[in-house]
Amino acid sequence: EALDRIQTLEPKLHSFLCVTAQQALEQARAVDAKIAAGEEIGLLAGIPIGIKDNMCTKGITTTCASKILENFVPPYESTVTQKLADAGAVMVGKTNLDEFAMGSSTENSAYQVTANPWDLSRIPGGSSGGSAAAVAAEECVVSLGSDTGGSIRQPASFCGVVGLKPTYGLVSRYGLVAYASSLDQIGPFGRTVEDAAVLLSAIAGYDPKDSTSLKVEIPDYAATLKPDLKARKKIRIGVIKETFGEGLDSVVEKAVTKAIEQLQHLGAEIHVVSCPNFRYGLPSYYIIAPSEASANLARYDGVKYGLRVPDADNLLSMYTRTRASGFGTEVKRRIMIGTYALSAGYYDAYYLKAQKVRTLIKQDFEKAFEQVDVLVSPTAPTTAFKAGEKTTDPLSMYLTDLMTIPVNLAGLPGLSVPCGFDENGLPIGLQLIGKVLREDQLFQVAYAYE
Ligand code: GLN
Repeated sequence: EALDRIQTLEPKLHSFLCVTAQQALEQARAVDAKIAAGEEIGLLAGIPIGIKDNMCTKGITTTCASKILENFVPPYESTVTQKLADAGAVMVGKTNLDEFAMGSSTENSAYQVTANPWDLSRIPGGSSGGSAAAVAAEECVVSLGSDTGGSIRQPASFCGVVGLKPTYGLVSRYGLVAYASSLDQIGPFGRTVEDAAVLLSAIAGYDPKDSTSLKVEIPDYAATLKPDLKARKKIRIGVIKETFGEGLDSVVEKAVTKAIEQLQHLGAEIHVVSCPNFRYGLPSYYIIAPSEASANLARYDGVKYGLRVPDADNLLSMYTRTRASGFGTEVKRRIMIGTYALSAGYYDAYYLKAQKVRTLIKQDFEKAFEQVDVLVSPTAPTTAFKAGEKTTDPLSMYLTDLMTIPVNLAGLPGLSVPCGFDENGLPIGLQLIGKVLREDQLFQVAYAYE
């Protein structure tokens, strides 16, 4: 059914960079055979899933939506996709993204622009736009995205689905093509909170192949969901003052305010909290992320992976010509910013300063969490915008991540859950931010609300 739906919708939607129909059918049949033989099947047996095309899949192209990896077929499997296969999930294809996950609209893909299923003239958000659109349009049941500064939560908000960025270190990054390693996390998309919770239980857990992986027990997140928040100890929810006001669309503000009232009605205690350094999140992120990216992307040199331009006269020209033709405009912009910020003489003024601001933002969260259990804000300042609307103005594109970025800088879990529609029928998202490793609380609040 998922494959049929993909076939019908893809000419308009463009969520997938490749559809793995053959393998999917084989995997599905293997599940059937297990059932027939009375064998045990996994948690996700037979569930069609889409995977963002920056996670390595053995024998299946992994392009990061970049020309430089056009024909790259990984010789190994990422930990998350291995875990999914072990749980019986059926991958139906690799989803579209902004090149190397750099962007907020999926328009930076070197191959295609994905449409928002709610309005085809609009973008699905980014960078995991393909994964969000595929779930929203029911081309698959769940999907995986990656989130460095909002790339799961913002497209979830724009496409009206649930998306979670886990605590840094909860999900292995082994086999995730690195963008900014200190910020990247893989996480689930689902049409319901429960689906996202089940998927997180399947992919989370310690992995010796990722040095930043946390050694923690993984709870059965879905088992703790309840329809209300009336526990013996009241859950305290803090509204981040700084995420309201200037720059926030009034329709989004109204929907989020109403959602907060609803949470109170469900049994939560509402507080207003302040995170005064929140507003420096965006400028510090756009130093730190490009700096890490400039180092991570140095490996694409025409020797080890993907593209190599022919007929270069010498090694240096092979490097430069390969990189000049393989990378897109936004990726080049990031490499240049990052290289500049890390260079001798500028390091202290930019990179080091940004790292100090990162610590201040983290401390803001720590202080807020002395008073409350979960924080709330809008996920994005607006609803989905028109394709082409922001492509010539990178700063206005960066601004869509205003509220999601601080969460990555602090390594915290963040979830976006749909909370209404604007006047054009476009979905709005509510962001819930949790303490380290308290994904369970985010799921509980979102489930009760949903
Ligand atoms: N839009 C942000 C960026 O371009 C975040 C991307 C992401 O989370 N991968 O860097």
